[in-house]
Amino acid sequence: MADVASLTNNLEYLNAITKIWENAFTKKTYITGGLGQAGNWEGFGPDYELSNHSAYCETCAAIASVYWNHRMFMMYGDAKYIDVLERTLYNGLISGIGLDGKTFNYENPMEYTIKNGKLTGENKRSPWFTCSCCPTNICRFMPSIPGYIYAQKDNRVYVNLFISNTSTMEVSPKENVTITQTSNYPWEGNIKINVEPQNKKGLQYAMYVRIPGWAKNQAFPTDLYAYKGTLVKEVSVKVNGQPLELKLENGYIAIDRLWKKGDVIEVDLPMEVRQTIANAKVKDDIGKIAIEYGPIVYCAEFVDNNGHTSNLIVPEKQQFQTSFQPNLLNGVMTLKGTANAINILDDSSVNTTTQPLVLIPYYARSNRGQGEMRVWFPTKIKNLEILTE
Ligand SMILES: [Zn+2]
Repeated sequence: MADVASLTNNLEYLNAITKIWENAFTKKTYITGGLGQAGNWEGFGPDYELSNHSAYCETCAAIASVYWNHRMFMMYGDAKYIDVLERTLYNGLISGIGLDGKTFNYENPMEYTIKNGKLTGENKRSPWFTCSCCPTNICRFMPSIPGYIYAQKDNRVYVNLFISNTSTMEVSPKENVTITQTSNYPWEGNIKINVEPQNKKGLQYAMYVRIPGWAKNQAFPTDLYAYKGTLVKEVSVKVNGQPLELKLENGYIAIDRLWKKGDVIEVDLPMEVRQTIANAKVKDDIGKIAIEYGPIVYCAEFVDNNGHTSNLIVPEKQQFQTSFQPNLLNGVMTLKGTANAINILDDSSVNTTTQPLVLIPYYARSNRGQGEMRVWFPTKIKNLEILTE
């Protein structure tokens, strides 16, 4: 629909696809970028109905969302679509494939919880499914990721994703430029972009570098999700060591100049642990927080948290520690905080223990056996489901 709208300039299609986008991303998207609340009909549910344990979020739907948001960006040139694309890509999409590269999840829910002695959801990765759309779809999608890093229009080069790479592109007829990105993103926020025009005299064109919403205190392009508190550090962009004024155009800083060999753009994005809340109309997330770091959504898994996660209360007032673990889950940044665990002793008594809370990126879940997992944490006892259900 988006392709037809842009290729034919059909305004009715354009208005319709934009309206559907507004609805889907204002009222029907999970924090991981996952789409589709209802497994029964593999589709959207009512507005703001985003159940956590029964979230469907099919891997194919996340891939479709990347395709859709990329086309919306191509139509409007607005970074908000890449913000959704990035959130989906690094969270709800790649969580569909195991770290072994050969086991998959069809569904990508926000939690696995033991209910009536049974673990909810499709909690085991599988090499194949009866209806095996997701494994084949993700295998087709992964090699296409380089195509999402840059975009070009006239003499503008858009830097959309921060992935280390070297690319050569034709900016004006027969005028090539080689761009090299170096970073340890998303674990670190400093990105170096080396620009090397082939022409020794240099090349005049504009680099549009995306400044992600999350780096500007905007968790999501709509009011569906918001951060608590504000960033301590600010975004900084420099060209050859000279700081630039952060004037944004559709979410991009435009740097139009005569680029010469050896020119370097340095972008520094504030990587900080954030607490995210959902719109108050999302019933399942009332009184809860999710924890994020840059573009990455985190979760707690049973393995790191004393066997359970449905009994955890995560107080808002606390500092999380970041720690990169090179040998864990192919190398991940873990977050460490403190949780209060409610332990049910019998029908009439509970006790509470304070324990370390260990969080891993959501995409790396379900690689160490089956057990409880959770993205949204109650901050108060009254929102703990095991006591209130
Ligand atoms: Zn599928």
